[in-house]
Amino acid sequence: MRLFVVGHINPDTDSIASAIAYAHLLKSLHHESVIPARAGKLNTETLFVLKKFNVKTPRLIKDGTNKDLVLVDHNEFHQAIKDIKEARIREVIDHHRISGDIKTISPIPFESEIRGATSTIIFERYLLYEKPIPKPIAGLLLSGILSDTLILRSPTTTREDRKAVKYLSVMLGIDYKKYGFEMLKAGCDIIKHPAKKIITSDMKIYEGKHKIAISQVPIVDLTDTSALKPKLLEEMQAYAKQHSLEIFCLMLTDILKANTELLFVGNKAMVEKAFRKKSKDNYIYLPRVVSRKKQVQPKLLAVIG
Ligand code: MG
Ligand code: MG
Ligand code: MG
Repeated sequence: MRLFVVGHINPDTDSIASAIAYAHLLKSLHHESVIPARAGKLNTETLFVLKKFNVKTPRLIKDGTNKDLVLVDHNEFHQAIKDIKEARIREVIDHHRISGDIKTISPIPFESEIRGATSTIIFERYLLYEKPIPKPIAGLLLSGILSDTLILRSPTTTREDRKAVKYLSVMLGIDYKKYGFEMLKAGCDIIKHPAKKIITSDMKIYEGKHKIAISQVPIVDLTDTSALKPKLLEEMQAYAKQHSLEIFCLMLTDILKANTELLFVGNKAMVEKAFRKKSKDNYIYLPRVVSRKKQVQPKLLAVIG
């Protein structure tokens, strides 16, 4: 049986690092045929990381039909590869809310932990099984944690993430702050793409009573984006209409200053209620907000019900 370890669509560094590292760990635990995979095109940050640690790009898988999968860094069907319902889900390791999408006929390992990154959970598994972490894998795990926690500055950061970063950066002899900024800056390329591409490059869809989308784009300086905003809003409007979204939010997150500008289209009353702020021209400034998972998504989900 071939087992694919795969993260979410619009893959980020944590989902790719987790897939590669967990596939490696499973192999070292004598799992016959396990293949690290990706659910889409890699972003420039992740490409930077793979190059830095000399790790090859995982295999692209497009749909779940008849595949045996380990899901890492997601558990919502809207964030998974196509036809996920036709896959056999063998295991889940994640650090997001539990959607309840996954139903199985037999028990499976399902680990959900409050950590800043799935990479931290995988790191802890290496320690648990007392398996050595090869340097390239350590580099990936370190990168996954630094990426998801914005170099340990996001409010999602836990004690365990700090411990893992310390352990891994010492092991690799890397100044994690310096490396972390280099890595995050490599990811700031997205903003140079056409608006249509920017708005979906890191998009996540959530479905409650209404369907909403939240995208996040890392940037180095918020002041550079003013000319681009009308174009972004226009593309967001078109996308929201085409995909029947109640709300579409785009977080422009300044990775150096750790603030966010939120652009949105759709239900203005709901967005203003969620953040308890008045908007101006489809825009709300959110100081000290960097985490979609902790500071944006729960607020929106609470108001849409
Ligand atoms: Mg992720
Ligand atoms: Mg993650
Ligand atoms: Mg992320």
